[in-house]
Amino acid sequence: MGLTGLEIFKLLPKTNCKKCGMPTCLAFAMQLAQKRTSLDKCPDVSEEARQLLAAAAAPPMRLVEFGSGGGSVRVGQETVLFRHEEKFHNPTVVGVTVSDKLSGDSLKARIAAIEALDFERVGTHIKVNAVAVMNDSGSAQAFAAAGDAVKNSTSKALILCSDSADALAAALDKTADVRPLIGTASAENFEAMASVAKSNKCPLIVKAESVEALSELSEKVQELGIEDIVLSLDGLAMRERFYSLTKVRALALKKVFKPLGYPVVSFVCGEEAEQVGCAATLICKYSNIVVLATAAPEALLGLLTVVMNIYTDPQKPVQVESKVYPVGEPDESAPLMFTTNFSLTYYTVESDVEASRVATHILVVDTEGTSVLTAYSGDKLNEKVVSDAMAKNNVDSIVKHRKLIIPGYVAVMSGKLEEATGWEVMVGPRESAMLPKYLREVWQ
Ligand code: SF4
Repeated sequence: MGLTGLEIFKLLPKTNCKKCGMPTCLAFAMQLAQKRTSLDKCPDVSEEARQLLAAAAAPPMRLVEFGSGGGSVRVGQETVLFRHEEKFHNPTVVGVTVSDKLSGDSLKARIAAIEALDFERVGTHIKVNAVAVMNDSGSAQAFAAAGDAVKNSTSKALILCSDSADALAAALDKTADVRPLIGTASAENFEAMASVAKSNKCPLIVKAESVEALSELSEKVQELGIEDIVLSLDGLAMRERFYSLTKVRALALKKVFKPLGYPVVSFVCGEEAEQVGCAATLICKYSNIVVLATAAPEALLGLLTVVMNIYTDPQKPVQVESKVYPVGEPDESAPLMFTTNFSLTYYTVESDVEASRVATHILVVDTEGTSVLTAYSGDKLNEKVVSDAMAKNNVDSIVKHRKLIIPGYVAVMSGKLEEATGWEVMVGPRESAMLPKYLREVWQ
């Protein structure tokens, strides 16, 4: 159990100096007890107190990293059960399996299919970031060869899965340098698996079929010197797995129960639709790594979008930079329009302008990441905000005409905007889907 807020408070300087950003030491202590801040934010805490508080300051869920270079991934270190309480920190790693029964061209084709799972959504690349090599063949040699082939064909983080410690050791002879996540340790083989993990400095998957058995096993593996553990309850039916993972998360975060204070991995199999449904549920509650058997783009795009949405900070709208964006190759006679810096708004407008094939300048106005109507009703979008953005971005040196297209939803501001800027205001359509028709037929 961690320390309570009052116990932490007794160890703080009690000067209420506010350097940590909190109004009082007590407020800081309460935040620290709930794992919502870190001890290093108080510069005046004594070394003695720092050591005593180390346990309280440690995250309730360990951060585990695997993979190497640009393909390395971080999972865990979550601090809340619900996203709205703060935010989730390290996005779920989505992986796809490769069977070691594949070889030659079929193995290459499978790896290429996984590499292609890279999509652009609202200006961000979302992609599968792990490949799990499965020892389906039962052969250590085939497993090592498949692991080696995957390592040499992709920079994605590697996961190696076998029930045999010998097969894992053979695969690690060729792949330990990229620090794969390895598994799977069970009650039957955990000593041999822990030994392989320790000698290769790799994180280890520990699997059991109940929360109680999982905590006992993780404690035993920990006692063998393994610090980087990833938990698995894959033997359970989906419904039970869902409830059990919720229990694991609650025990780790609310009770600071150390044997369960690790990230979780889930493998899903079955029909493609079943995999997608299970994976989406497990991304929401509470798998830090989800591995699918399918590499179908239509299955992965939706899941990666789920991850992207859940791991955005709910207190910070997703924004694009406020500046002028060219769509196509607009010149000084091309139309100029403005929209807000809420990502979804901007990228919707951008893709509709692109569809028009009319090269256009889009001025993005900073409305603190809110959409057009929300910004207008909150007075974050008015004639002054727009005219300031126009001046700051020197739009009069970008276009020679003096016409500005504004979103149809804020037609009401056109008069004041004309007065503030001296430009002719053209009222665009309310829905951006109508922009192609507008740009082709109305703009001139
Ligand atoms: Fe107290 Fe330290 Fe925060 Fe100052 S910085 S208010 S001493 S906890």
